[in-house]
Amino acid sequence: MLKRPARLCLINSLLIRMMTTIQETKELFRRADAVCFDVDSTVIKEEGIDELAKFCGVGDAVREMTCKAMGGSMTFKKALTERLSIIRCSREQVNKLITDHPPQLTPGIKELVDRLHERNIKVFLISGGFRCIVEHVASQLNIPLHHVYANRLKFYFNGEYAGFDETQPTAESGGKGRVISMLKEEYGFKTVVMVGDGATDLEACPPASAFIGFGGNVVRAQVKERSSWYVTSFDELLKELEKI
Ligand SMILES: [Mg+2]
Repeated sequence: MLKRPARLCLINSLLIRMMTTIQETKELFRRADAVCFDVDSTVIKEEGIDELAKFCGVGDAVREMTCKAMGGSMTFKKALTERLSIIRCSREQVNKLITDHPPQLTPGIKELVDRLHERNIKVFLISGGFRCIVEHVASQLNIPLHHVYANRLKFYFNGEYAGFDETQPTAESGGKGRVISMLKEEYGFKTVVMVGDGATDLEACPPASAFIGFGGNVVRAQVKERSSWYVTSFDELLKELEKI
């Protein structure tokens, strides 16, 4: 057992280490080459797959499946396959969802993305959700569509559901990290920052240089605890950029 002064000293040094980590994360964010955002419950207020399920009249069944998947050891791909096999949305339903219930942007995201673009920091969207919905979000934020990484729904010629593209990295567990590695290689980025609300976002660091936890729509205790910098508003990130 350490004597009191030694214990205080240890606590102090731990605090300093934690503070340095926050400072380091902020520093990395300010001088990032690229910032990657998760989409569901980060850039937009809702979870795309839940909205799609609700729209197709199977909201409860899919929510139940989501809980089961999160509690068990089901892989991301299996959980996605199971939920989509309940939803079985047609192309027309997806289009109608986007027109009737367009995804709601989280307050402050537009200003933040504009500011990052002004500073010539590249912005990417990396989502376990669906490309057709995420592209709509990207257009609103002036993010080029080739900066979107998400899952692709497949449809038959008559518009009926035909599965999803299982070869996309975002269809696998650990897929977000793989996308970041690809970006680093393709563009030669040194500093890539990931921002998101979920465990899959946190797990993308490394290869991401830093992770910023976002709790503006939903707070996930595990992510909050493990994030060196956790914010509940995009204003906090904007303010950090203003410091330069
Ligand atoms: Mg999310």
